[in-house]
Amino acid sequence: MGNPHGKLKRNEEGEVDVVWIWKRGPVTFLEISELNWLLWEIGSVRLCETVDKWMWEGDKNGEFSVGSVRSMLRRGIDHSSTYVMKWCNWVPAKCNVFAWRAELGKILTGVALRNMNIQVEDITCQLCESRDEINEHLFVFYSFTCLIWQRVAAWCRVPALNVASVRDLLEIRNQIGLNDLAKEVFYGIVMIACWSIWRARNELIFSNKPAKVEDIFSVGSVRDPNKSFGRALIRFRGGN
Ligand SMILES: [Zn+2]
Repeated sequence: MGNPHGKLKRNEEGEVDVVWIWKRGPVTFLEISELNWLLWEIGSVRLCETVDKWMWEGDKNGEFSVGSVRSMLRRGIDHSSTYVMKWCNWVPAKCNVFAWRAELGKILTGVALRNMNIQVEDITCQLCESRDEINEHLFVFYSFTCLIWQRVAAWCRVPALNVASVRDLLEIRNQIGLNDLAKEVFYGIVMIACWSIWRARNELIFSNKPAKVEDIFSVGSVRDPNKSFGRALIRFRGGN
């Protein structure tokens, strides 16, 4: 990059210091929260001089041995519950990354900010003002979101989506009787819908623009994932 906006430096304790080179400092609430989130994420990182290598979680030295597997089994330690999200190749990377972060609970909802000890005036969902803003509310249960999932299911001619979490949303394609191609398209539709819900939420909060289901389903500009959303819906119908 010709003109970096900052660089990471290691201080004497091995902690990461960020040296910012701003063109313009963060000012809006969103920018400041995102910066705080970034600092929070890299705050626990310790840089060292050694080369990266794989570590075995079952042993404190990181070395694999049959004995350590046996001991893990004996202690009933199981890491298989760690969710590995499949990448969806046909949707923009930002939608994949967004879905991945949403599943991990790392989207900057009101409750997530409060949990990071960031001062937030109100953690209530600004869209309906009736519940705390957490992932499941925003992406699954909020009435606006429910309408979107109903609309997606109707358009794709699949049963109503029986989901309770972001992970359920990312897996539901496997449970609604789709062939492999349709699964892949449906998967991307879910990702873009989640990203669009978040965008609608931000537009309401930061630009005072009311969230409308129609806007999510409309075809936007070229760089807009909504465009691929519209195309995907049409492609889905065509492929079935
Ligand atoms: Zn709400």
